[in-house]
Amino acid sequence: MKLASAYYEGVRRFGVVVEDEIALLPPALGTLDDVIRDGTLDEVRAASERTPHVPLNEVRLAAPLQRFNRDVLCTGWNYWDHFEESRGKREGQDPVERPRHPTFFTKGPDTVIGPYDDIAYDGSLSSKWDYEAEVALVIGRDGRSIPESSAWQHVFGFCVANDVSQRDLQRAHGGQWLKGKSIDATMPLGPWITTSDAVDFAGLRIQCEVNGELRQDALAKQMAFPVERLIAELSSGMTLRAGDVLLTGTPSGIGNARDPQVFLAEGDVVVTRVSGLGELTNRLVSRAA
Ligand code: MG
Repeated sequence: MKLASAYYEGVRRFGVVVEDEIALLPPALGTLDDVIRDGTLDEVRAASERTPHVPLNEVRLAAPLQRFNRDVLCTGWNYWDHFEESRGKREGQDPVERPRHPTFFTKGPDTVIGPYDDIAYDGSLSSKWDYEAEVALVIGRDGRSIPESSAWQHVFGFCVANDVSQRDLQRAHGGQWLKGKSIDATMPLGPWITTSDAVDFAGLRIQCEVNGELRQDALAKQMAFPVERLIAELSSGMTLRAGDVLLTGTPSGIGNARDPQVFLAEGDVVVTRVSGLGELTNRLVSRAA
């Protein structure tokens, strides 16, 4: 099942996407955030079967989630080809060895924008705007110290994200990943959440295009640490809650690691695509910070 949030006649609703239509569900069912927290997917499924459909082109899709428990959880260096491509390009902040455990960080929820919204670009904040196509995972069930063997029971579904980053802000403030990952209105999320029962995870193909040029192209099965491992290690001693979003890392091909380096600029159009999960299209439009 594909679940989307959308504006229809000016009101935010949520619904079930079926091909190029959406069944907009009655407001009494709450929001998509409520459905995930309250575990009411069966009610949603039943209601969608008796709800008339509206063509998708009559709504404006929004980010599927709008009420975050906390920062968006993120994974760094989860494709070894991406880890290797950046060797010597981290301005003195290189680890020597491949990490033996997943690398985690967070980004602020004010980064989140809809699947076709503009990315709020400000060249005065950073001169190194970069793209990172990723699969985003949505937690569907609270858990702490979740073993790998039951990790999938805590996954509600998946969507597409672009972890747009400002490389110089990552370096300038102590070699952290928060500030260079948390500029407002820079992370497209969507276009909808596909429930995990409808996803063949290993077969997912992640791609990023900038102005029509393919820059990233990889399979989810190339991940250094699989989903089970990410959930087990992240939840170890730390509760994950329904509605939490975890980005699973970006593959190689980022602008910072290219020779010569190439960064995003005003007017660029970024397409982020994951086979089976959908596609985001976002233009960088100037907005003063
Ligand atoms: Mg990333």
